[in-house]
Amino acid sequence: MSYPEVSKVPKGLYINGAWRQAADGATFDVTDPATEEVLASVASATVDDALDAVAAAHAAGKAWAATPPRQRGEVLRKSFELLIERREEFARLIVLESGKALAEARGEVSYAAEFLRWYAEEAVRISGEVSTAPGGANRIVVLRQPIGVAVFVTPWNFPAAMATRKIGPALAAGCTVVLKPASETPLTALAMAALFAEAGVPPGVINVVPSRQSGRIVNAMLRDPKVRKLSFTGSTEIGRMLLAQAADNVVKCSMELGGNAPFIVLADADLDVAVASAMVAKLRNGGESCTAANRFYVARPVAEEFCRRFAAAMAAVSLGSGLDENVQLGPLVNRATLDKVARLVGEAVEQGATVLTGGRAREGRGYFYEPTLLAGVRPDASILRQEIFGPVAPVCVFDTVEEAIALANDTEFGLVAFVHSRDLGQALAVSERIEAGMVGINRGVVSDPAAPFGGWKQSGVGREGGHDGLLEYLESKYICVSW
Ligand code: NAP
Repeated sequence: MSYPEVSKVPKGLYINGAWRQAADGATFDVTDPATEEVLASVASATVDDALDAVAAAHAAGKAWAATPPRQRGEVLRKSFELLIERREEFARLIVLESGKALAEARGEVSYAAEFLRWYAEEAVRISGEVSTAPGGANRIVVLRQPIGVAVFVTPWNFPAAMATRKIGPALAAGCTVVLKPASETPLTALAMAALFAEAGVPPGVINVVPSRQSGRIVNAMLRDPKVRKLSFTGSTEIGRMLLAQAADNVVKCSMELGGNAPFIVLADADLDVAVASAMVAKLRNGGESCTAANRFYVARPVAEEFCRRFAAAMAAVSLGSGLDENVQLGPLVNRATLDKVARLVGEAVEQGATVLTGGRAREGRGYFYEPTLLAGVRPDASILRQEIFGPVAPVCVFDTVEEAIALANDTEFGLVAFVHSRDLGQALAVSERIEAGMVGINRGVVSDPAAPFGGWKQSGVGREGGHDGLLEYLESKYICVSW
């Protein structure tokens, strides 16, 4: 089957403002997870291609850094407007290559566009500092200057938003970039490259190099001394490797890595709110989100009722092709993810959990897994130790708030946590003791382009979004001066 939104997308590499094939002519296939059919073949960058992209970004760097901030902001603003104008086209493309439901994809495009609008506004708010040295002999002048060429490596779960969350602040700061999108979802990134060109981004400022040889090309780029920044979003496992590789040239890193979010329901929580927020925290993006609630800790007095209502809500979710307007949950992204989710549920059941709803993959084509609620999960169950990355909610019961906090913090991850209580003072006190970069109180989603998104512990280094996100692309220069 052919889709107009797929046929329109350029399938080459986008380097220095031009489309081209890979140096060795290699391509790779992009698959629709709902049908397992090939959607398109795209060029697969070689090491030489990637280094050409770095050279192009470097060559364009001086002029872009010298472009007036207002003008950089206007280009981002135009990109925002184009993306909103084409929301439907991009949403369908995202559904086709990632599997998510159309409403989710529309939400992603709006979210992605907001990063462009936010950083269009931030481009003109880059400021330095002037102060008098404590000894009084001189002044301390601090300039903030663009760090230089930035390499971006993005995941498949938010193919548009994870790109704009990096491109927005980088361009606002005056940096130029090379983006290597995930191999499952290169089409959205390629379509965005064309959109940025149309919005007036000069050649070389944004380069896009999909590749089936991700390890090799990213490593080669990190070895190129022209690269000064790496921003990676993906698994902790790959992030750890890239941090080690970036160490050789002392490349500054932003790392948005895996999560294992606890979702705490205290005994006084409003259960209507808690269940509505659990549905979002678990099922947003089909559970394939780094912020997805991965472990539900519920106070014993309300556990049974919470599970009853949560199971009913999960059972009512419609599963099917993301392109169908009536579908709320699409397929998982690939066979490996489906197999992993099925294995984790199997292990949880072996370890004593009860399936309240779901618990099965759907037969036939596509990587569909039913929304699943597991009750009676042991606090040491294997499903609680890793990202599930699917529509499965394991519930554990706790007796004291102390116990809930200890369980929530018992992980090497620390991206986000969710706390539910009618007592805001108590919810804030619990939030303060949670080891995570973000906490949602009586809410199932925290992401916002204007807020600093990022993790503690092995969930990452640095922040994206808000003013903090811009600082990741700026170097400070201290000038000591007497006048
Ligand atoms: P992944 O396997 O780590 O892949 C992420 C990116 O890294 C892809 O572009 C991938 O390319 C590339 N990659 C793979 N191996 C590489 C290597 N050896 N060297 C350089 N690059 C390499 O993660 P994923 O499965 O796409 O995404 C899911 C993960 O992302 C989850 O852990 C999730 O929590 C995390 N995530 C975090 C955030 C956050 O903000 N904290 C947001 C979204 C997702 P290929 O596709 O070609 O393999």
